Amino acid sequence: MFVDLAETMGAATKPGTEPRIKTVLEVDAAGRTNIEGVWAAGTCAGVSMHTIITAGDGAKVAINLISELNGERYVDHDVLKS
Ligand SMILES: Cc1cc2nc3c(=O)[nH]c(=O)nc-3n(C[C@H](O)[C@H](O)[C@H](O)COP(=O)(O)OP(=O)(O)OC[C@H]3O[C@@H](n4cnc5c(N)ncnc54)[C@H](O)[C@@H]3O)c2cc1C
Repeated sequence: MFVDLAETMGAATKPGTEPRIKTVLEVDAAGRTNIEGVWAAGTCAGVSMHTIITAGDGAKVAINLISELNGERYVDHDVLKS
């Protein structure tokens, strides 16, 4: 499981709150763990265990990660030409 792997690397964890999820990674609001370069989203980051929520959390963290790599806030919206 990814949490086990991250724990082995030294990632901070905490007890999970969702049914059957014992342990989750500690992440900040953006999705960063305490290890530089390691981000987490979805079930392993402790969000509600529903597909739409975990997928949205993954997208949120991906945008935060890309923004950090690019050094500016990333937005990928199609804009209709008027
Ligand atoms: C039986 C069942 C029924 C469900 N029914 C519903 C439902 O009806 N509606 C609903 O909204 N939700 C449902 N869920 C919950 C939903 O499936 C999950 O909330 C969602 O898939 C979690 O997404 P995730 O990306 O956080 O994790 P996951 O989908 O678990 O993805 C984690 C990925 O990480 C990979 N991985 C793990 N360890 C490693 C590693 N060391 N290295 C590389 N990769 C690794 C795994 O192979 C997996 O692909 C159900 C879950 C189960 C188990």
